[in-house]
Amino acid sequence: MNYHNFKSLIQMIYMPGSPAEIKLVSNAMSNAARRQIMSLLKDGSISKEDIGKTIRQSMLDYHLQLLQQAGLIAIKGEMLELTDFGRNILESKTEKSVESKKDLSGSKPIDVVEVRQLLPCIADKSKYRIIARLKPPLGGALKLLEPLFPRARYSEKLGALIIQKGNIIITAYSTGNVTMTMISSTDEAEQILDDIMKNINAAIEKGITPAPGEKVRVDHNDIYKYLPGTNCRICGEQSCYSFAIRLVGKETKLDRCTPLLEQRYAVNLEHLKVLMEYL
Ligand code: SF4
Repeated sequence: MNYHNFKSLIQMIYMPGSPAEIKLVSNAMSNAARRQIMSLLKDGSISKEDIGKTIRQSMLDYHLQLLQQAGLIAIKGEMLELTDFGRNILESKTEKSVESKKDLSGSKPIDVVEVRQLLPCIADKSKYRIIARLKPPLGGALKLLEPLFPRARYSEKLGALIIQKGNIIITAYSTGNVTMTMISSTDEAEQILDDIMKNINAAIEKGITPAPGEKVRVDHNDIYKYLPGTNCRICGEQSCYSFAIRLVGKETKLDRCTPLLEQRYAVNLEHLKVLMEYL
């Protein structure tokens, strides 16, 4: 379930308070380790020590803190348990995952029949915008494919599936047309399209799209807020903001920002390491 679906689910069922509260729950449930903690607690309270046998110890307090802040778990001394709210969220999420299996039996396997290089991208003149074509067109089945890609959303307005891969954005239309931005070469475009095609064809062969597992969106703003914000340029970038953008594009590494090793940024670094797992 992606962030927007999950937010809607919470809004529909629980009529929550502020958007900040919704975001707390969404953030808490966006991580596999935290969902695992929730699942471990579904049959009753468990000690922190026992949870620590399954979840990486160095991150355990951090995960527990986020779950507690979101009102999903209660911490009583060394014991942990789900709150009523947490139990409802866990149960509804499970039901929704089962519901989300869809029938693709009417769809035929696709092929990439054309890849053409177009104009340089506006955002970066060294990159290109590419147009491609998939055959046969996926039509209405395209919407069902959203769960196949960790960073994708279906736009009803465009009739297109928009897939993010680092800085690259792939827009696949129900007509079979595909546009890609921030592409370095036609080879890169062909490789990405080949991966997408294989992924889709595997789902078509099975006849159903699987319920989404991990579906987290992390963008440069999420990264930026945990950087030191000093714009010292030690990382080689003009600013922390530029560094965040290049991190998301996988064009640099987190360890280039050496000020993060200072004790005062220890928590920031911890947050950033978690966020980096989702890029
Ligand atoms: S070098 Fe690192 S700390 Fe310095 S401005 Fe860039 S991102 Fe921030």
